[in-house]
Parts: sequence; C-alpha cells; structure tokens
Amino acid sequence: MDYLARALEAVAAWREAAGPMPTHPALTPDPARFEAAFAEFSERMATSYPFHHPRYAGQMLKPPHPVAIAAYTAAMHVNANNHALDGGPATSALEVEVVRDLAKMFGFPDDALGHLTSSGTIANLEALWVARELHPGKGVAFGTNAHYTHSRMCAVLGIEGVATDDFEAAARSGRVGTIVVTAGTTGLGTVDAVEEAVKLRDVYGVRIHVDAAYGGFFTLLDELVPVASFRAIADADSVVVDPHKHGLQPYGCGAVLFRDPSVGRLYKHDSPYTYFTSGDLHLGEISLECSRAGAAAAALWLTLRSLDLAPILSAGVRAARAWADLLRESDDLRLHVEPQLDIVSYFPNRARASEIDAESERILNAGMTDPDPIFLSTLRIDAADFAAAHPDIELDTDGVRVLRSVLMKPEHEPHVPWLHERVTSISRR
Ligand SMILES: *Cc1c(COP(=O)(O)O)cnc(C)c1O
Repeated sequence: MDYLARALEAVAAWREAAGPMPTHPALTPDPARFEAAFAEFSERMATSYPFHHPRYAGQMLKPPHPVAIAAYTAAMHVNANNHALDGGPATSALEVEVVRDLAKMFGFPDDALGHLTSSGTIANLEALWVARELHPGKGVAFGTNAHYTHSRMCAVLGIEGVATDDFEAAARSGRVGTIVVTAGTTGLGTVDAVEEAVKLRDVYGVRIHVDAAYGGFFTLLDELVPVASFRAIADADSVVVDPHKHGLQPYGCGAVLFRDPSVGRLYKHDSPYTYFTSGDLHLGEISLECSRAGAAAAALWLTLRSLDLAPILSAGVRAARAWADLLRESDDLRLHVEPQLDIVSYFPNRARASEIDAESERILNAGMTDPDPIFLSTLRIDAADFAAAHPDIELDTDGVRVLRSVLMKPEHEPHVPWLHERVTSISRR
C-alpha cells in the first residue's frame, strides 16, 4: 500500500475545496539553483547511518513507520499548529483522543490531563515544574541511573536535585517533595521498582513521577518485562512517554500525563494572541510550549489506530534475550547485565578495565568502517558499578566503556545470530 500517496490525495482534496488560487512567481525556485542545491542535499543525506536496517544496532534510533510518515506529511501540508484550535482544529481533536489512549494504556483515569510535547525533555520539564508548584521549596530526588535531563531541569527550575539510589531515605528526609523513577533507563533499559516508589507517597506524602520516555510502551506487554513496575504507573502522579522512541513516530513527539486534572490550574495565563475561535479547551492552555506540530498528533493517531505495538516491542525483548544467551556462551565477548527490555550491553573479554574500554571503542569504529558494516554504540559504566558486576576484572580506570545495542526494530530478532557473529569476528581481529 502506498500510504503516502493516499495521504497526499486527501490533502489535495482539502486544498481544492477552497477554490482556485493564483501562484506567485516569487515562490518558484530557479530550476538550476534548485538542481544544484538538491544534488548537494542528496549527497549529504546519503551519509546518514542505515537506521532502518537491522545492521544498525546502536542508539535508540529508527525511522518512523510509513503510516506515521503518511499522516505526518498530510498534516504538514496543512501545517496545523496544536497550540490552539485556531491553528489546528482537526489535529487538536486527534491529540485529545490519542492522549486519552495513552492515559488508558497507563491505567490513568479517563479525565487525566495530558498533551503531546516536542520531546521527552520538555515533557519531563513540565512534570518537574508541576512538582515544584505543588511542593514549593522542596527538592526532587531521582535515581543515579536517571536521564541527565532531571538534574539539568532541576537547575533550570531552581530546585534542588538529589541523585540517589535510596528513595525511601530521600522521602524520609523531608527535603524532597517529588521522586522520579525511571521505567526503562536510557543506558541499559533498567526498570525501577515503580510499585515500591508509589508506596512512599502514601507514607511520606511525596509526589511520584515516572520517566517512561523510553520504556512507556512496554506497559502494553503482559509478560517478558517487569510487569509489576509498569502496572504501578497507574498509581503515579505523572508519567512521560516518548512516542518518537517506541511509538514508531518521527521526532518530535513526547507526551506528559497527570493523573489529577486539577493541575491544569497551574498553567493559567491570559493570551492576547490566541484562543479566538472557541471557548473549548485549547491545548496551549495546558502546556508550556506554544506552537507545536499538529502533524505529530496526526501521525500518532493514525499509527495507533492502524497498528498494535505489542508484537513489535516483544520481538525486541526476545531479540535481547536471545543475544544475551549467545553472549553468555561466548569466549570472546561477555554480557554486562541481563537485559530487562530490549537493550543489550556486552564487552570484549579482557583481563583489565582499560583494555575493555579501548577494545570497545576499537570494535565500535571497526564495525562502522567494515565492508559488511555493523553499527553499535558505547556506554560508559561507572567504575564501582562495573566492579560490582564483574569482580574478576582488574579495575585500572575510573570508568569503562562497554558496547551497547538497542534492539528496537522487530527485524532485529531474526538478525541476532548475524549480529553476534559480526561483533565476535571483529573482536578477534
Ligand atoms: C530519551 C529520554 C529522555 C529525553 O527525551 P528526549 O525525547 O530525547 O528529549 C528522558 N528520559 C529518558 C528515560 C529517556 O530515555
């Protein structure tokens, strides 16, 4: 099916409905100038890594689904702006529906408040901003494994950020008003015990925010992943998920959801510019960002209406398990930690940390330049964490880079033996 052609047909009908219009010559590029620019453009785009192919097994990157591209392109022609109903009446309605679907996925009530954002960073900023407004003068605790955005955004918001692995002590200290738990860390895909964190709210009155930017969609699985953690998101105060990571969407599409819709009052402001066309809710009234691509809502809506994500996510988890099994049997490579989601971490089998670090970098670079290339990523592990996991390895550095593969495409699953063979053979050189 040519999804894009279908989407463009729908847009052409919308354009034509407005009646004939003249074209202004100032909008037509000079053909020679365009050709020259386009030649350079195509050449430069061709230097992109093959994110779409299973031989790309590095960072959490993959192209959007063709259905998402089709809807995004159609709405982009309209250039809908979901700041206000004035700019995106159709796509704002799609956003409200798709946010309700996300709330339902997490087990949030029907009246939960939420909206899409341009990224997980902005979504987390909003959650921490609401946390600050509700617990003025108190800090925010997050895990030492949390995304660096939390300490940075605490600085932006002028609140104390506490990196800790003892959330109970942080809650007991009285210094902290909010605890951030991560359901799927960016580095290793580790899932914090959300079910333990939500108990702290009842005892100490802290807010619980779940950063599920990476892992949120794994809530759709009933097995293979730490299900109790994902189910407990239903009891959190707020949650963030990035459809541009595991929701098959183009950048930028994040989302933030609040269980208690009354936090909407915190956004209250008067806008002299917008909100003319209707007294209904404009998304800009409940979001910190103003202009935002309505196309993002269109793409997510059509994707979630057309496809089930669960079989895609479970293929990645099975791929990670299968590769971990091969790594456990290998003489050349070692598994760093057991994968909880779809991220595998491993390193060349050497006696000293400094050799592992250097070899990981060599394999990363040799993989990319090989005639039959493989694209991996490296992750720096703190020396203490590395020593705890691998006491037999001599620790002669303060951090160790290991190799990391995010197996987020379902096509990775049948490719696991190939990936393992490639990394093994490059490690032997
Ligand atoms: C990716 C990620 C972020 C940041 O989100 P962006 O969409 O890259 O801005 C925050 N937290 C976690 C856990 C993430 O994986």
